[in-house]
Amino acid sequence: MHTPSLQTKLPSVGTTIFTVMSTLAAEKNAVNLGQGFPDFNCDPLLVDGVSDAMKQGLNQYPPMTGVPVLRAAIAAKITALYGRDYNAASEITITAGATQGIITAILAVVHAGDEVIVLEPCYDSYVPNIELAGGVPVRVPLTPGTFRPDFDKIAAAITPQTRAILINSPHNPSGTVWTAADMLRLQEILAPTDVLLISDEVYEHMVFDGQQHQSAARFPGLAARAFIVSSFGKTYHVTGWKVGYVAAPVAFSTEFRKVHQFNVFTVNTPVQYGLASYMADPRPYLDLPSFYQRKRDLFREGLQRTKFKLLPSEGSYFQCVEISKVSNLGETEFCKWLTSEIGVAAIPLSAFYANGFDQRVVRFCFAKKDETLHAALDRLARL
Ligand code: PMP
Ligand code: GLN
Repeated sequence: MHTPSLQTKLPSVGTTIFTVMSTLAAEKNAVNLGQGFPDFNCDPLLVDGVSDAMKQGLNQYPPMTGVPVLRAAIAAKITALYGRDYNAASEITITAGATQGIITAILAVVHAGDEVIVLEPCYDSYVPNIELAGGVPVRVPLTPGTFRPDFDKIAAAITPQTRAILINSPHNPSGTVWTAADMLRLQEILAPTDVLLISDEVYEHMVFDGQQHQSAARFPGLAARAFIVSSFGKTYHVTGWKVGYVAAPVAFSTEFRKVHQFNVFTVNTPVQYGLASYMADPRPYLDLPSFYQRKRDLFREGLQRTKFKLLPSEGSYFQCVEISKVSNLGETEFCKWLTSEIGVAAIPLSAFYANGFDQRVVRFCFAKKDETLHAALDRLARL
């Protein structure tokens, strides 16, 4: 029988490092601090809200753009936290997680040959998304060592072909948080251009030490050109539910929805209703910074007793460490060794660079039960 051959659209892509490391962690019975997801359950009230919606028979297709009560709750939250009003009917769209929000925004605005700036290291879906749209990824490094944006390099990367720039704060993998001054500088650089902004804000509620999340929504010159992407998975400890949203000015949302309707059409109904009723109480997300800051501190304190060099973690649920006093291995080999021999899984930072740049830094996720963090620290203490 003849099997037609395929020409891959993504020649340099294999299985994501998150899947590779989670599989190895399960195989080796390691404590999995690799892939970023909580190992504790969400609030039972949230589950009740979803199950009530199912029992009430809210089980058929919702509107293409998402259920109105959820869009209204999101618009109200953005106004309260960041001071910008989005029209819930025309400017907020519910997506199947941030992942679908990002690829849909890219497919909606990037034409063949358009350049899109990404700041490396960056989340692993961005570059393949740009390539699938026929765009050309332009990689600008964050400052080595600190992972802060280098605005001279960003400004120098803008050409007449630049269609968009993707930013992510709090940052995966480095845990860096952009300041208001950073956002103002970006606003100033983009002001004379037609460059669009895709702002990945999935860790918006995980910002520590009294710092504020500087959403693009707070800056009129950025918001007017931005797709702002967030995810309930991170905020409510339900990464497996895969529900997020995109807020963007009406003309942008209109184009976004043209793609969205043929991408997923819409996102599951009862979860949307459950999220909408749970959002009535702001405390769960307002309490999140202190909830995760405590875990970060517990984890850092334990790591201080190892030979790892700790990098700052200002936000997100990640702690990066430099490994050179612990091992001579490269990052990926080290992560595999750590998982197999010490029983703790981590993610190599090189996975977030196109050329596999190895700076001897690996990422741990501390969005775990205290007992999981203690178990990992006990094992790491052997190093
Ligand atoms: N962006 C970043 C920076 C992430 O870390 C993640 C996932 N963990 C996503 C997007 C995707 O979010 P979701 O699971 O809602 O698709
Ligand atoms: N965002 C999570 C991380 O960075 C995992 C997402 C995924 O598995 N694709 O670990």
